Amino acid sequence: MTEFDEAHLSLRRKVAEAVSCPSCEAEHIPEDVLVLGYQDGLWVVVVVCARCHWQGILFLRQSPPNMPPGSELDAEEWVRFQHLSAIDRAEAQRLKDAIWALDGPFEDDL
Ligand SMILES: [Zn+2]
Repeated sequence: MTEFDEAHLSLRRKVAEAVSCPSCEAEHIPEDVLVLGYQDGLWVVVVVCARCHWQGILFLRQSPPNMPPGSELDAEEWVRFQHLSAIDRAEAQRLKDAIWALDGPFEDDL
């Protein structure tokens, strides 16, 4: 089995374990899940219920290892920014104040 096949099988198992049929509530098996493709950190899979034939398309975002869940960074951004601390409220306020203090024209600032 190639690395590509193993990644697909792993994804199919995870989706089957995580998703039950929204129509009849049947549990899924990996064979119910078809991987359509992967691009820019996004998996596209189809789930077909073997019991009631409900079909759904899922778009799944794959995060790099050790990336906090729910992060809005993509994999490349995560590599670039993971060592930096998040801005705090005071820093956000300073940025807001700086933006409000801008008084055009802005040609000299560019
Ligand atoms: Zn079903």
